[in-house]
Amino acid sequence: MQAQGRLLTGDRPTGKLHLGHYVGSLANRVRLQDDYTCYFLVADYHVLTTAYENPAGIGENVRELVLDYLSVGIDPERSTIYLQSLTPAVSELALILGMLISVPRLQRVPTLKEVVRDLQLDTASYGLLGYPVLQAADIMMVRAHIVPVGRDQASHLEVTRELARRFNELYGQVFPIPETLIGEVPTLVGLDGRAKMSKSLGNAITLSEEPEDLRRKVMGMYTDPTRLRATDPGHVEGNPVFQYHDAFNTDTAEVEELKERYRGGRVGDVEVKRRLIDALERFLAPIRERRAAVAARAGLVEEIIADGSRTARREAAETLRLAREAMGLTYFAERQ
Ligand code: ATP
Ligand code: MG
Repeated sequence: MQAQGRLLTGDRPTGKLHLGHYVGSLANRVRLQDDYTCYFLVADYHVLTTAYENPAGIGENVRELVLDYLSVGIDPERSTIYLQSLTPAVSELALILGMLISVPRLQRVPTLKEVVRDLQLDTASYGLLGYPVLQAADIMMVRAHIVPVGRDQASHLEVTRELARRFNELYGQVFPIPETLIGEVPTLVGLDGRAKMSKSLGNAITLSEEPEDLRRKVMGMYTDPTRLRATDPGHVEGNPVFQYHDAFNTDTAEVEELKERYRGGRVGDVEVKRRLIDALERFLAPIRERRAAVAARAGLVEEIIADGSRTARREAAETLRLAREAMGLTYFAERQ
């Protein structure tokens, strides 16, 4: 099949992927692998924006992330999985793009304020402020048309679109203006019911969760705080247990029946949670099995990263050539 264009998205290697990543972005990636030429970026330099003091665990997290990709069905035969730090031309493009955006514009990006607050930083570093510029370089490096992400990333994508437009206006048409593709569940709430599910907030169910941990986490989930007894009418809307049922329980008749009984005070939270554990187990068991199978193949992750990064470097060199040519930065040639 002829690809409709190029797709890029990625993740920071900061821990194992979770259910929020799946519904926010991974499901779209797996689904679109045959329709687009896909690039999946392992963004290790992006980790440094917050973890520069302690980069020790990044390598192991890169490995876990690639195993997560393979376990949900990202196929390295069809898609390119690559490592940011093995594609250095990206930082060169980021340098150029950094000229095309103002500091106050970057200071207004809402995720910057959130990170500064959550990590209790006094102020943002130059690198953290530039996070969306580096991300734009990643996306524009493969001249991507579409970027599947969760809703929290929409403000970053806006920066990319602005930078692509600005570059094209100034120097000529080089970059597509990429579309943001938000997942079916734009933001999956965490187990605590308060914030989005996130690796760093400890409110996540990972895609490699063991059955006992899954059970314990679901049983401890926040539900409807206004409900004291199973005979009290319950609230389905805004209840994270039902949000997960909607997102992961493929038995829609069961979900509808549970909702009706819950509203009428005819089912307890324990039963609703037990049914959720079963549904999540049906979803996670094949993912867990595939993960174990690929993890057992020695050298596989290293090979995928090496091959994918070679492909990405080729793409990057071509994009940088086009960008420099458009800008007229071709006055001297490189010599070996
Ligand atoms: P960290 O705490 O390290 O920032 P994270 O869990 O927020 O981790 P990211 O690496 O920031 O994850 O996000 C990777 C991708 O998954 C992004 O496209 C993001 O929008 C999406 N995503 C992350 N969490 C959720 C969620 N709870 N619901 C929907 N999409 C999500
Ligand atoms: Mg995040």
